[in-house]
Order: sequence, then structure tokens, then C-alpha cells
Amino acid sequence: MLVTGGMVVDAAGTRLADVRLADGQVVEVGREGEHLDPAPGEEVHDASGKLVIPGGVDAHTHLEMQVGQIRVSDDWSTGTRAAAIGGTTTVVDYVPVQRGEDPIAAARRWRAVAGAAAVDFGLHLTFPEPVDDAVVAGAVGEGITSFKVYMAYPERLAVDDGTVLRLMRAAAANGLVVNLHCENGGAIEELRREALAAGATDLGAHARTRPAVLEAEAVTRAAALAEVAGASIFVVHLSSAAALTAVRAARARGVDVMAETCPQYLYLDDSRLGPGSPDAADYVCSPPLRTPADREALFEALAGGEIDTIGTDHCPFWSADRRAGVNRRPEGCRDFTEVPGGLPGVETRLALVYQAVLDGRLSLEQWVRTCCEAPARIFGMWPRKGALGVGADADLVVWDPERVQSLAASELHMATDHSPYHDMTVRGWPELVVGRGRVVARDGAFCGEEGAGRYLARELPRR
Ligand code: MN
Ligand code: MN
Repeated sequence: MLVTGGMVVDAAGTRLADVRLADGQVVEVGREGEHLDPAPGEEVHDASGKLVIPGGVDAHTHLEMQVGQIRVSDDWSTGTRAAAIGGTTTVVDYVPVQRGEDPIAAARRWRAVAGAAAVDFGLHLTFPEPVDDAVVAGAVGEGITSFKVYMAYPERLAVDDGTVLRLMRAAAANGLVVNLHCENGGAIEELRREALAAGATDLGAHARTRPAVLEAEAVTRAAALAEVAGASIFVVHLSSAAALTAVRAARARGVDVMAETCPQYLYLDDSRLGPGSPDAADYVCSPPLRTPADREALFEALAGGEIDTIGTDHCPFWSADRRAGVNRRPEGCRDFTEVPGGLPGVETRLALVYQAVLDGRLSLEQWVRTCCEAPARIFGMWPRKGALGVGADADLVVWDPERVQSLAASELHMATDHSPYHDMTVRGWPELVVGRGRVVARDGAFCGEEGAGRYLARELPRR
């Protein structure tokens, strides 16, 4: 296929250039303004007036994950179809690992489950308990070059600081990146107990018991441990101005802290959880939605290059499951602690962040860097992913900057019946999405194939 006349945006800059794809790869990129002639029989896609960007890379998804007695509503098939329609051609999903389970075996099992994927995928491991250093080294052999530890959810996921330190040392010795969910789980558990004892069962209590200062504290502690261990860390879903301040302080000391935020922390705030909000249950996620001032701080940090990537933390549920809760009560959740946390987002990420380009808050290059290139670099997939150089995978999006798209659930393809952005209409949506040389979406409709996605054995970071 030859994509002609489009404005190419990638790490090499923004210029009018033709791009030739063959055998699943980018095989030729014309010089600025140079016209490439189609070969006999070659499909030509006229991208005049359109943007041409590398396929999106969403390095934070939770497809098909079990949460208590309910399950994330998008499975590997539906979730990756929706990703493709929205312009994301690579996802990196978190392998759910239970305590007592062999993490490497869990990763192999998850890789098999992910066989239904319509786009390419990588996996992050999760270590919910101490593991031998050999397991960390073994992950590299499986193509897994990042793992996650939780500082929250002490009852099933969090590990103590000594374990975090030891895992960070093992990561540093093997060149891996340590992803951290930064919230002080012990303190949050106490606040939740206090709230329940005081009879606070409203959904606002979800946010009140997870204050930003406890996110900032965990970022500070994680950075201190990374400093001692000599590790590189990646703070997932950074949500607050306070946590941002903690990141800056650590970086000022020379600690290698990377940060991700998510569209929900940029475009939504805690008013959605407020009293009288009938659909508050649809906005429960952790960290919780923060204040408008936090949103503003995150936008400024993005514009200033202080936030490295934008991932989604894609974790959708059906409305009925949100209301029944993780204990599946037919009469509905008893209190805020039973509402499953997580929002849909894998389909809408590129378009939402593009609105910041239209608003003049981000440049086109920053949009592509945070949504495509940087996650590919940090997670060992660049320049095969997140780039449009010769030899890259033919993952490409022709972005129609004029196409108007409603973000109501009925107009989207994620397997859920509500949308956190139901009242938003965006400008800019993919016209054509190509994954490893095959058209996977055209004009907002999926036309790829279930199971066509391949597992990505990831390399060490290239930053
Ligand atoms: Mn998390
Ligand atoms: Mn997550």
C-alpha cells in the first residue's frame, strides 16, 4: 500500500511525505514533498489533508481481568477491536497474577488467552508477593521487560517496602523497568474502615478515602527506594498535582522516574462522584478522579514534557456489574468499597488527547510522542512500534482531523454500555488504521481479524 499526500508526524518531525508499506513493514518514506509513484497493483490511499501517524501504543490495559466475582467487560477480542478502531495497534496488558501462583506460568497462560487479539500485544508481569531474583531474570526470557508492583490493595496485591526494594534491585540488574501503582494502601484501608464505621456509604467516600497526598507519599517513597536500588521506575496513572510535585522532587535529585497519566485524569474530575450524580458508579477508578486544579496541573506537565506517556488503564465493566459490585449482590453494592474500579478508554485515547492539540495545549509531536513513541521506547518496542521509519512494523493511522465523533457508548465499540465521555463530541478520528500491513479499521469500522495480533517479545528500554 502507498499512503500519499498526508502530513506525516513522528519522531523525525512533521512533513508532507508519502509512505510505502509492504510485507508488514514500512519500506519507504518519501522525502518532504517528494511524490512516490505506485508500483503496479499497489493499493493507493490518498491521505491529502490528513495526518499520518504511527499506530497508537497503549501500555496500560486490563483486558478480561477478573475482579472479585465479576470480570472486565472487554475480552481480548472486543477490547483490541475497539483499540484498532480508535487507532491503537499495540497494547501492553497486565498479566493478572494471584499470590501463590508462579508468575512465569501466569504470563504464559495469559499469552494464550490473548491469542484472540486483533492487534499486536505485549505483557507486563505483576508481582503481588516476593519472588526469587531468578524469576525477574526469567521474565526477560519471556519477552517481558517491565513488571508492576502495587503499593495499594494490601489484602491481595501490595508488597512491603523491603520487597519493593529487592524487586527494584533485581530489575536494575536486568535492565527492566519497574511500574508502580503509587497509593499508600495501609493508610487508605484505615480511612475506608473509618468511613464505613461513620456510615459513609456514598460514592464520594471512594475519593475522600484516597486523597492525593497519599498518592504523593507513595511516589516519594517509591522514588526513595529506586534511588537506593539504582532502578528506573515508571509511575502509572499519575493523577494529581501533589504526586507531580513528588516526581519533580525525585528527578531533581537525579532519580530516574518516568510518569504516565490517563485521559480520565485530564478530562474528568471529582464532580462526577458528587452527591446527586446518578451515574457516579460509572466514574469509580483508582486513583480517583481529582479536582479541576489537578487536571490543569497535569495538562501543564504534559505540555512541559514532564509526563512521558499517556496510557488508558482500560478496565471497563457493564453498568449492571458496577451496580451489583465485586460481590455480585442482586440488591446492589452495600457501600462504595464494593464498586469495581476502572473505566473504559482504549478506543478513545488518541482522540481525547488530540483535543488538547486542537485547544493549542499540546503540539502534534507531543501527541504522537506521548501516545505512540514514548511508550514504545520505554517498554522495549521502539523503533518497530511507535515510529514510521523504514523497517518499522507497518502500523499506521491516517487521521482525519475533521471527522466528528460522538463519545456516547452507542457510538463506540468497547464492550460496555456506558461512556465516561458520553457528553463529549470530539473532532479528529482515524479514517484508516493499518496493523502490520493489514487494514484493521476503515472509516470507524473494524475490518481486521480476531487472532491476527501477535505477541511482542519486548526488548530492554531504548529511551
Ligand atoms: Mn492501578
Ligand atoms: Mn491499571
